[in-house]
Amino acid sequence: RMNTAYVALGANLGDPKATVLAAFAALANLPESRVARCSSLYRTAPVGNLSQPDFVNAVAVLETTLPPESLLDALLDIEARFGRIRRERNGPRTLDLDLLLYDDIELDLPRLTLPHPRLHLRAFVLLPLAEVAPDLAIARRGSLAAWLPAVANQGIVRL
Ligand code: ADP
Ligand code: MG
Repeated sequence: RMNTAYVALGANLGDPKATVLAAFAALANLPESRVARCSSLYRTAPVGNLSQPDFVNAVAVLETTLPPESLLDALLDIEARFGRIRRERNGPRTLDLDLLLYDDIELDLPRLTLPHPRLHLRAFVLLPLAEVAPDLAIARRGSLAAWLPAVANQGIVRL
């Protein structure tokens, strides 16, 4: 049985646009998975540490039979292949891949929280997510659409 997973992509070092496009291709090559949809790319201001380049962000919709933890491992493996070395929270990175949602699953493991605990607070996640899944309901949080006004002040431009 196929499950639906939503993955957030972010990059702000090197050529971030090319990185995100290459990461879409890497997701398409995951085992037991297909990419059902990719959002547009968005340029966004950094959160937290402001002295770093703007990010390019996007969201991909995966149909997969990989279980959530295996999918997370596969995403972290792609990050590593893209040369991510710094692990500073909210810091610059070649490529960041976050697992936003996996069907309606709620998980609180040390290495995997589902839904992603900050997804509803970030324009760079909510806007691309709303593009690919406007009617989405987020477990624990309610409708995606209801969270959009709260992030309307965050700088984000659709490329
Ligand atoms: P952030 O993306 O918040 O800036 P990192 O990418 O450095 O932080 O993530 C650090 C750790 O967060 C990962 O090693 C992973 O185990 C954990 N993690 C917990 N929940 C999730 C999730 N839903 N998606 C991705 N990583 C997660
Ligand atoms: Mg991450």
